[in-house]
Amino acid sequence: MANSKLLALSSSIGDYLKAIYLLSLEGQVSTNALASQLGISSPSVSGMLSKLQEQGLIDYERYKSVKLTPKGEREALRLLRRHRLIETFMIEYLNYSWDEVHEEAEALEHSISDRFTESLAKLLRYPTHDPHGDPIPNADGGLPDTPNTPLTELEPEQTLLVSRLVTQDDAVLRYLANLGIQPGSSLKLTLLEPVGGLLHIVLDGNHQVISKEMASLIRGEVQT
Ligand SMILES: [Zn+2]
Repeated sequence: MANSKLLALSSSIGDYLKAIYLLSLEGQVSTNALASQLGISSPSVSGMLSKLQEQGLIDYERYKSVKLTPKGEREALRLLRRHRLIETFMIEYLNYSWDEVHEEAEALEHSISDRFTESLAKLLRYPTHDPHGDPIPNADGGLPDTPNTPLTELEPEQTLLVSRLVTQDDAVLRYLANLGIQPGSSLKLTLLEPVGGLLHIVLDGNHQVISKEMASLIRGEVQT
């Protein structure tokens, strides 16, 4: 199988590739951003980047931004597919709540086979998005479209149909779930405070106030 060699990549290499991929969706990937995403020091990140470069997984020059090669991106998407299918399975079949699944999926994504992954996809009826609203890459690495406008970009009186929450932080997900904010929610921005950046929103007829930082994690499609 073409993937058998990549399957043998250590889980930490896979975690680097995924982190680079996810950061690249938000802009250029610096060594520092990568270090803070992975929770390790910049010097150890540099060492690992040289290793990834040798294996043809990334393009990297010191002090410049890090880019995945097509091979590196394929591997990142393969892991993301596994991760998001596992999370969907845990929620739909094992009664986990959506704020409880991330750690377990991080561990399992490295140990299941392609065959297991595709059986899971079939069982779940080939979902296009996971319960956080994140797109699940398909088996050939393509990504389903996902609206991605942050709540912070709305004008007052505009409404956002939430498609995803871009965080894996359990506490943040729990907080948003308690407010009733999840994929499928519809949020109307009523007021943006001129100082401090608090956003006043209406959700199911209830007024809520959230920080700009929290609002930047809430993505979706502006309703017209
Ligand atoms: Zn996760």
